[in-house]
Amino acid sequence: MDFSELRKAIEEVELVDGHAHNLVALDSNFSFIHAFSLAHGDAVASTQHSLPFKRNIRDIAELYGCKSSLEAVEEYRRVSGLESISSTCFKAARISTVIFDDGIVLDKIIDTEWHKTFTPHVATLVRVERLAEKILNEGLPDGSPWTLDSFTNAFLSKLESVSGEVVGLKSIAAYYFGLDINTNVTKQEAEEALQQVLAVWKPVLVANKNLVDYIFLLSLEFAQSHDLPMQIHTGFGDRGLNLRLSNPLYLHNVLEDKRFAKCRIVLLHTSYPFSKEASYLASLYSQVYLDFGLAIPKLSVHGMISAVKDLLEQAPLNKVMFSTDAYAFPELFYLGAKNAREVVFTVLRDSCIDGDITVSEAVEVAKDLFARNSINFYKIAN
Ligand SMILES: [Zn+2]
Repeated sequence: MDFSELRKAIEEVELVDGHAHNLVALDSNFSFIHAFSLAHGDAVASTQHSLPFKRNIRDIAELYGCKSSLEAVEEYRRVSGLESISSTCFKAARISTVIFDDGIVLDKIIDTEWHKTFTPHVATLVRVERLAEKILNEGLPDGSPWTLDSFTNAFLSKLESVSGEVVGLKSIAAYYFGLDINTNVTKQEAEEALQQVLAVWKPVLVANKNLVDYIFLLSLEFAQSHDLPMQIHTGFGDRGLNLRLSNPLYLHNVLEDKRFAKCRIVLLHTSYPFSKEASYLASLYSQVYLDFGLAIPKLSVHGMISAVKDLLEQAPLNKVMFSTDAYAFPELFYLGAKNAREVVFTVLRDSCIDGDITVSEAVEVAKDLFARNSINFYKIAN
């Protein structure tokens, strides 16, 4: 079998990055080692001993033409400056569009506007839990105390005011109490939850399951009625997350709820390690779409290939989309794009050899996964 046509198509395609975050200034206290793993605290010290670190640092060093060590790459970054390394990384990544979730909180984060220098098209999402916290922290204009009704009105009118500017919503409910959303949370339960977090947290965090579930359902309803997709954190993340409850199978009640039958949700992060489960959901539910970010480049080569293979076991190929899930460091856009091109080539080549698809079908699938599916799904110009 001749795979040169597939190789060429994958090399040439301009990528649409469906999910990424803003960069941080070089002197941010969020140090460069965090590019390589999701570890925090004492666990960071062992990052350099992992397979993904060893591969990724070598790839960056090769791009920069410096020695392959964390120190040498950090020195190169310092001397070159953020503009120069961003330009190098984005040029090598060949990403035409990035959809930013700009709700991430990191030291010295850079505004989305700045990124337009490096990528032709930029779009944004609203992170709904963060929006809720922002609204609650700002308070009502007349200073009166919050009720569930006044919060709901403020939240929905804010979503309404930005709905024309953004390409979707994003939920990190998984980071609070997992994906086992109670679809029958009552207004009274949500009201009590709201008063509880207002009493406990300064600044306010929506850290009460009934409130998180209420915000999730409110957002999903809004997204559906405005034909906006909602990205959902699934699978791995940092230690703020209970991975067990990040399994997308927990979304069963949401998916079976007729009120949300016409919504469009995207399971982020390859749902790793629940990639087979995600594939299964995408095959059964018209509402479910998949994103294969973060697993690439955060895993070993074997891990990346097997996660993407798992994701494609049953999922309709027009529902699977590329992203880098890059954050803070421009190198992650480069590594995400480079590794995704290699991984998707291997996965589709093997699908041809296995007899699932022909090479010419694989060429079309590659263009769909890397760009066309996202362009259609998020309704973006490219
Ligand atoms: Zn992300």
